[in-house]
Amino acid sequence: MIFSPLPGTPLITQGFGQNPDLYAPYGYAGHNGFDFGVPEGTPVFAPHDGVAAVKDDGPNGYGLYIVIEAPNRRSILAHLSQTTLVNGQTVYQGDPIAASGSSGTGTGPHLHWTFKILKNGAVQNKSNGYDGAMDVSELTRLRLPQDLHADALYAGDATPYLSAVFAADQVLHRVVS
Ligand SMILES: [Zn+2]
Repeated sequence: MIFSPLPGTPLITQGFGQNPDLYAPYGYAGHNGFDFGVPEGTPVFAPHDGVAAVKDDGPNGYGLYIVIEAPNRRSILAHLSQTTLVNGQTVYQGDPIAASGSSGTGTGPHLHWTFKILKNGAVQNKSNGYDGAMDVSELTRLRLPQDLHADALYAGDATPYLSAVFAADQVLHRVVS
C-alpha cells in the first residue's frame, strides 16, 4: 500500500498520461506522473519507505526535489519549496519530508509525483512510454487528516484498548502529523 504524499483529498491538476504533445519532446507518451495543485508550503509526506536523495535543479526542471528509493520502488516528489531531509536519510511511510512549492519549471505551485516499480534496484516497465513511470493512483490510499487512535469508531469490546499510552522514547514512524 502506498500513501498519498499530501494530506486530505488534494486536487489533481494533471493526470498520468495527460498532454501527450507537451511531453513528446522529452520522449514520454504523456505526463509521467501526477500533479497536485496545492498551495506553496503544503506538507509533503513520504508515500513509502526508502532512502532519500535531495536534488536541486534550481529554476529549471524539477526545481528542488526528493527521490525516495527502496529496492522495489522509487518516488520523485518535485517543485518543493523546502525539505528537512539530507542525502542518504532513511525515511518511513508517513514521515513529513518537505513543503510543496513552485521551484523549477511550472505554471504555478504544485507537487509533481512520479512513481516507478523497481526490481533489485532496476526500473521495471522501462519501455512503457514513460521510462517506467506508472499510474499509481489505484494503489494509493488517501491520507486523512485524522488519527486512527483518536478518531476511529471503536466497538464496545475494543474501547478498553484506547487507553494505550506510548513511552516517550517510542517513535511511531507512521504517525500522521
Ligand atoms: Zn508533473
